[in-house]
Amino acid sequence: MTIDLNIYCYKCYYCLKDQKNMCENKEPFGITKNGIFSEYVAVLVFSFMNC
Ligand SMILES: [Zn+2]
Repeated sequence: MTIDLNIYCYKCYYCLKDQKNMCENKEPFGITKNGIFSEYVAVLVFSFMNC
């Protein structure tokens, strides 16, 4: 299991079309948000993905 390091808005055109990778308001950890070089990090439950 891993997490998607992007936080999506779930409101824009692309999110509503289930194309979240194109989200207009995406906030990736380490780019627009602080990185995650920490022992613990809080993420949305939607971020978990099975590989
Ligand atoms: Zn969006």
